[in-house]
Amino acid sequence: MSHPHPELSTPAALPKGGLRITPLGGLGEVGRNMTVFEYDDRLLIVDCGVLFPEDSHPGVDLILPDFDAIRDRLDQVEALVLTHGHEDHIGATPYLLRERGDIPLVGSELTLALLGSKLREHRLKETVHHVVKEGDRISFGPFDLEFVAVNHSIPDALAVAIRTGAGMVLHTGDFKMDQLPLDGRITDLRAFARLGEEGVDLFLTDSTNAETPGFTPAEKSITPVIDRVFHESQQRIIVACFASHVHRVQQILDAAYAHERQVAYVGRSMVRNMAIARDLGYLKVPPGVLVDTKDLADLPPERQVLISTGSQGEPMSALSRIAQRNHNFVHIEEGDTVLLASSLIPGNENAVYRVINGLARWGAKVVHKGNALVHVSGHASAGELLYCYNIVKPKNVLPVHGEIRHMRANADLARATGVPNVVVAEDGVVVDLVDGVASVAGKVDCGYVFVDGSSVGDITESDLKDRRILGEEGFISVIVVVDSVTGKVSSGPEIHARGFAEDDSTFDEIKQPICDALDRTVAEGNTDAYQLQQTVRRVVGRWVSNTHRRRPMIIPVVIEA
Ligand SMILES: [Zn+2]
Ligand SMILES: [Zn+2]
Repeated sequence: MSHPHPELSTPAALPKGGLRITPLGGLGEVGRNMTVFEYDDRLLIVDCGVLFPEDSHPGVDLILPDFDAIRDRLDQVEALVLTHGHEDHIGATPYLLRERGDIPLVGSELTLALLGSKLREHRLKETVHHVVKEGDRISFGPFDLEFVAVNHSIPDALAVAIRTGAGMVLHTGDFKMDQLPLDGRITDLRAFARLGEEGVDLFLTDSTNAETPGFTPAEKSITPVIDRVFHESQQRIIVACFASHVHRVQQILDAAYAHERQVAYVGRSMVRNMAIARDLGYLKVPPGVLVDTKDLADLPPERQVLISTGSQGEPMSALSRIAQRNHNFVHIEEGDTVLLASSLIPGNENAVYRVINGLARWGAKVVHKGNALVHVSGHASAGELLYCYNIVKPKNVLPVHGEIRHMRANADLARATGVPNVVVAEDGVVVDLVDGVASVAGKVDCGYVFVDGSSVGDITESDLKDRRILGEEGFISVIVVVDSVTGKVSSGPEIHARGFAEDDSTFDEIKQPICDALDRTVAEGNTDAYQLQQTVRRVVGRWVSNTHRRRPMIIPVVIEA
């Protein structure tokens, strides 16, 4: 991936007493959040998450932040702070720990528990954990950290205030300001105000919903909608939501209890995360509600509820397999109700509608964000952000967590409240806070790092381009044998195609032009195999483009014999 800001150069040395902020992910996309803070030659990292691939990344499992900018300096890292347990904030941590396993991990109880099970899956042991909670203050090298409760679509999320000799930074993490949350744990605006009184030099704020006017509705506002779905459903109910959305699962469990239904979890991450949340007391399971999937199948349909992963249409998820009717034990039937209780992450629309259509084909009634209020966002809308700016009164603002349009909208909100200096930066753009003023200092590399099976970082953008061409345009191979003495074609061309034409005879008309072009190339004195292959590629490429309007991958092989 080319750098979004080629005009910037490598930053100069950080002035003494200055704080350098280097976003390695999350600024320009919703995903792979990771920000590095540097003070006095020591580093602090906030979050280390993944980005999920889109249709334009065929075969890619995950996208990581690029650790290149800090790879030689990992011994200077004092700690990695995890603001909350979402994949876009913790998912890349195992890959960072593979490079230095003893980086101290700092986060809330639930965040570190969710991360812990992930680290065990990656067989990473001996990691260093510091469990913190709101109000705690703890120092790592020159970084004095204070944690503040924030409300989000996962319990136990934290904002972090980072004090150094350069001033105070307040990083909201992901947050919203639900005033009536299910667990009663609100974003601590009193702490925001107190930090504002002390003086927030730089405020990093969640931009996800900055374009959405007003306030994000309360989680509780969807309870009556869920209740109505339960009331109206005559048969089985299948709910799909994020495997980390403890409060949404709580609402479903409560509704099931009220309507005398029983619930089973489907999907490995759902089973695992809800067990952790229950063990730690974040999820309260009403008595007798939860059963094994096998026991659930023995109940009549009107007593069954399944809570499943796959709300984003992920092809391998439980819900996708249910929609294709190839799930091991969940067989969708006419009259079943499917409730998609989740947001639609940009880029996943096609996959989600494919699943909805698949379910509808079997006669299921699908209730989703598009036809009922079954989900509210986990992020602050414009109104909430305005409140925050007015309460905190920061000197500088750096919008984070969003596509460029979200960050620009967030910057406009900050300016509207009179914030004196707002810096909009994307991944890899280095921002220095010196003498109380934040400004762009340069850039570092920060391309996408692709995880494909067990390989990390081996797949490049050009490999993906090849995959896209193969997937969309097909493949033509042309094999020609030429006489090594005369340069004349002695056998072939033999042409085969995949994903292109039904019949190889389609290519008969291009065989003679290939031979003629090779003769001309040889006559011009160009006889090495590479040049002959380029000739073949050119002739075939022009022909398919003109006659078939296609641009398949062309693999010419010229053998001298
Ligand atoms: Zn989040
Ligand atoms: Zn996030």
